[in-house]
Amino acid sequence: MALIRIEGAVKRYGAVVALDGVSLRVEAGECLALVGESGSGKTTLLRTINRLTELDRGRVLVRGRAVDAIDPVRLRRSIGYVQQDGGLIPHWTCAANASLVPGLLGQDDAAGRGRRALESVGLDPHAFGDRFPRELSGGQRQRVAIARANAAGPDILLMDEPFGALDAITRTEAQDAFITLREDASVTAVFVTHDMAEALRVATRIAVMRTGRITVEAPSADLLRRATGYAARLLEKAGVTA
Ligand code: ADP
Ligand code: MG
Repeated sequence: MALIRIEGAVKRYGAVVALDGVSLRVEAGECLALVGESGSGKTTLLRTINRLTELDRGRVLVRGRAVDAIDPVRLRRSIGYVQQDGGLIPHWTCAANASLVPGLLGQDDAAGRGRRALESVGLDPHAFGDRFPRELSGGQRQRVAIARANAAGPDILLMDEPFGALDAITRTEAQDAFITLREDASVTAVFVTHDMAEALRVATRIAVMRTGRITVEAPSADLLRRATGYAARLLEKAGVTA
């Protein structure tokens, strides 16, 4: 059984068709990248999974259940989510941010879970726990956002351009922290990126989006062989050629 299943998803905003009949399955243990240009529908699609996007047509199943039959608050607390700008609470320390979801869920030792989550992305809780988000670099902030999303031990992690705003070196460090976290936590992840090179580096499977549709979808290792047209041009732009 697929952990996440999206069937015929359609979403319109007025005249804009943000999702134009998208179907997708994510199996447990995968790390799927949604790759595409700005405006292609990546964020809209990602947010159907935790029901921050309500569909006009189609359906989304998480762990075998239709999301619109699950209480949205419970659904969202059961799924880690890193929103596009990180979304840390600015007047809360990193430790408080990291332990937010375990606290909301009433898990024991929420503070300890937050500290371990910070460690899992390579941030020493003694050095960083008492700092506020504004006292961190961009890369450190994004790592706190990933730690926060993962602290309660969700089986699903959704991330929207988690490394997008970072310079090249910091981005590689943050990607590596995430790759390590995923190996240790064996969490199933879906992440959005406009960077094909990043998708190839981090994801096990890639779905290329364009104007609200998935144009090609393949395991990262097979994408080069399977991509034609638009997807092939994205690969070429990323400096990946056959
Ligand atoms: P991406 O994440 O790939 O950049 P989005 O999913 O954010 O793309 O947006 C897809 C399309 O839907 C775009 O044309 C965008 O302008 C439009 N859109 C997204 N959210 C809204 C909204 N809340 N209201 C109106 N239009 C929206
Ligand atoms: Mg987006």
